[in-house]
Amino acid sequence: MIQAILLFSLGSFIGHVLPRFPVLLLSRGRGFNVHFPPHPDPVPLGPHLNQRVLHLRTFYWLGLIVALIPLGVGFASVRWGNSAFGFGLWLSSGWLVLNRLQALIGGQKPPWTRAMAEQLQVVMDGTKGSLACCSWPAPAWGMTRVRCGNCSKVLHKAARPDLGRKRSDGRIVGMLRLLVSDGYPMIHPIEEE
Ligand SMILES: [Zn+2]
Repeated sequence: MIQAILLFSLGSFIGHVLPRFPVLLLSRGRGFNVHFPPHPDPVPLGPHLNQRVLHLRTFYWLGLIVALIPLGVGFASVRWGNSAFGFGLWLSSGWLVLNRLQALIGGQKPPWTRAMAEQLQVVMDGTKGSLACCSWPAPAWGMTRVRCGNCSKVLHKAARPDLGRKRSDGRIVGMLRLLVSDGYPMIHPIEEE
């Protein structure tokens, strides 16, 4: 009985983590973040940020394809191997697939969207020309809003999702935090600017 529970937990853990690997790992290396200040500093708006939002969006949806692995292995395991382990795999990866697909028919939007990248572009365009907040606008995305680094004017209010940088809380805690938040902004009152 205890063995079955342990195997079920192991299966559901793997089914939970594996499809999130693209978001967890693909952009965290130093080489991928030379254009960004270290986490959790504000990220300057610009093509690199837009590109990062779009990349994370791709990694997020890539998770659906990766989820086919635990779904397949889970199916095989229920059929021919250890059913507790297989059921755990099935349950958590199946839940992830359902959860992500429901975004297509409504409900919570993914943490990174094309609309988000477009919105950032609009904010950046707004700092050029006659409507600029000051002479040397430097818009950057902080924890809860986009603010000009030069004159401190708030240009856009939006909580910042994870942006694929190596997290300041270290590899293990950072990864756990991401597994819990799934990339969505985690705003604590203390972190409020
Ligand atoms: Zn300004």
